[in-house]
Amino acid sequence: VCTAESVAAALRSVAAVVAAHRDELVRLDREIGDGDHGENLRRGFDALVSRLDDGALPASPSAVLRLAATTLISTVGGTAGPLYGTALLRASTAVGDVAVLGAAEVAAALGSALEGVVARGKAEVGDKTMVDALTPAVAAASSVAATGGGVAEVLEAAAGAADQGAGSTVPLVARKGRASYLGERSAGHVDPGARSTALILRALAEAAR
Ligand code: ADP
Ligand code: MG
Ligand code: MG
Repeated sequence: VCTAESVAAALRSVAAVVAAHRDELVRLDREIGDGDHGENLRRGFDALVSRLDDGALPASPSAVLRLAATTLISTVGGTAGPLYGTALLRASTAVGDVAVLGAAEVAAALGSALEGVVARGKAEVGDKTMVDALTPAVAAASSVAATGGGVAEVLEAAAGAADQGAGSTVPLVARKGRASYLGERSAGHVDPGARSTALILRALAEAAR
């Protein structure tokens, strides 16, 4: 997940994982939302793969991330589309114009992605959103990068923490997004956006191995 080419390959892996988990994400969103999360994301990442297939490879990791951001913003819809789009746009800006990403850039990109999601959605940890998966992922990634871990280790740590974070949403009552309309009845379910965040980070970690 270091050059433009490998970032593009990693995003293709994400698209495959999202497609494989489309039904699961739909089911989760049916329980506490409107049931479109899996299909929204599948459509967006499919569009990204098409754009990667049809166009020239963007010149830098940052440009690949920017293409992903604009594609998701224009095709995913719902609440999660703009949030993931903003996350990728911030990540693109954070990595700057380097040709090869190192562990520090990857950790910084994740941190900026989280900042973008929070700036846009105003959710805090405990609100039962994707922020509950992304926040521990950023903390884990930063500490691994700070202690000399490589890109693969940074992403592995992020994926593990995101998975735990997604699990932690089960008992929570949603305070943001559509699930919050259910009040107490939102408890007892995994938040779909937290689950998709964990899946995306797991796919990135696998791609980096
Ligand atoms: P919609 O609710 O518009 O149908 P999606 O189903 O695509 O959108 O996405 C729902 C997910 O979006 C939720 O599971 C949650 O993780 C995330 N989400 C909703 N509101 C916010 C918010 N304010 N901040 C961060 N994430 C949010
Ligand atoms: Mg939905
Ligand atoms: Mg919707």
